Amino acid sequence: MNPVVDPTGCSGFSRRSFFRVAAGVSALASIPILTEARFALAERPKFADPNKGIHIDANENPLGPSDNARKAMADVLPRGGRYLFNMQEDLAATFAKIEGLSPDSVLPFAGSSEPLHYTVLAFCGKNKPLIVADPGYEAPMWAAKFVDAPVIKVPLADPKGAASHDIKAMLAASSTPGVIYICNPNNPTGTITSRAEIERAIAGAPKGTIVLIDEAYIHLSDAAPSLDFVKEGKDVIVLRTFSKLYGMAGIRMGLAIARPDLLAKIASFGGQNSLPITALAAAKASITDPDLVPARKKLIGEIRAETLAWLTAQGWATTPSQSNCFMLDVRRPGKEVLAAMAAKDIYIGRIWPAWPTQVRITVGTRDEMAAFRKAFQEVMAGSTAGLVPAPLPRGLGDRPFTHLS
Ligand code: PLP
Repeated sequence: MNPVVDPTGCSGFSRRSFFRVAAGVSALASIPILTEARFALAERPKFADPNKGIHIDANENPLGPSDNARKAMADVLPRGGRYLFNMQEDLAATFAKIEGLSPDSVLPFAGSSEPLHYTVLAFCGKNKPLIVADPGYEAPMWAAKFVDAPVIKVPLADPKGAASHDIKAMLAASSTPGVIYICNPNNPTGTITSRAEIERAIAGAPKGTIVLIDEAYIHLSDAAPSLDFVKEGKDVIVLRTFSKLYGMAGIRMGLAIARPDLLAKIASFGGQNSLPITALAAAKASITDPDLVPARKKLIGEIRAETLAWLTAQGWATTPSQSNCFMLDVRRPGKEVLAAMAAKDIYIGRIWPAWPTQVRITVGTRDEMAAFRKAFQEVMAGSTAGLVPAPLPRGLGDRPFTHLS
C-alpha cells in the first residue's frame, strides 16, 4: 500500500482538544508534550469522572507501582526537600549495568514522552520527514508539526494479519528521512515488528537518519529488544517508559538510550532538569526486582488472552496483540460503539482515521474486562438500541475530527 503524506503531521485529534491542551501555555513556550493520556482524554466524554466507571482507554496499568516500588517511594519521602541529582545518575548506572550498556548512554526523563518529542524536534525538519506506521502512536507526529517536518504515514503491512511495520515501504518513503519511528509492540495494535525487519530498517536508513525504537510496551511481549543496536553504536535511539508494565504512569519516569552524542542532541531541548526522587526510587526498585516483569507479563498476558478468546468466540476480529492493548473491529463506525460503551460508564479507547471501524481496548483487571465483555455484548446485541442512542454523550458527538492546520 502507498504511504500517505500528512502535511499537517496530525490526524484524529480535534483542534478544540489541541487548544485545550495548549491553553495556558504562553506563546513563547507553545510546544505541548502530548501523551497517551491527552489523546484518550480528547475522545472521552467531558463528564467522565476518572474515579468512576471503567477506564480502559489510555493503556494504563491498573495494578499501579509494585510493592517494592511503593516501599522505595515511602522510604525516600523524608528526603523530598533535596534535589538528589545522584539518584538520576544511580538509576542510569543501574539500568546500564543490568543491560550491559555504558552509563552515559542512558538518560532519565519524567516519562518517555519528552525524549520522544525531543528526538523529532532534534532530527526532523522541512526536508527531513518523519516516517511513521499507520495506525501508530501519534505523539511524534505532533512534535513534527513544530519543526515543519512532513509526516509520511506508511500503512501497516498485512493489516488483517500480523499488522507489522512495513519497513520496506517506510524506507522507500523518503530519500532524506529525519526519523523513522518504530513502535514495538505497536500502539494501538499491540503487534510486533520482527528483529529481522528492525535490522533491515537500521541497515537501510540513510546515514544520519535516526531509527527511533519506542519500546514502551516491550516488557509485555516476546519481541526482541533493540538495546544492542545502541551498544553497536548505530544511529538508533531506544525509548523505555515505566508507565506501562511497571505501573508508574502517574509517577513519571522514562529512559532514552542511545550513543552519548545523540543523547546530547535531544538533551539540548530538555533533560537536565531535576527529576522527582520518588519516581527515581520507584524506578530503581522496579528494575532491580527480578520477579516483577515475568509476573506482570504473565498476568496481563492471561487477561489479554481470555479477552481475545472471548471476542473471537463471539465472532469479532482483533489484532494479534502482545501488549496491554489491541484493536477490535466492530464493523461499524467505532465512534458509535465508543459512545454507546461510554453511556454505560465503560470508557474504551480511541479510533484511528485509517481504521475507522476499529476501537482500541486496553487490557484492564479481570473484573474490568468482565464488565467490558458484559457491556460490549449488550451494546452489540441490540445493535441499533445500543449503537444509535440518542443523544450521544455530551462532548463526544459534536467533536469534530479535523486536522490541525
Ligand atoms: N510511547 C508510546 C508508544 C506510548 O503509548 C506512550 C504512552 O502511552 C509513551 C510513549 C509515553 O509514555 P510516558 O510519557 O507516560 O512515559
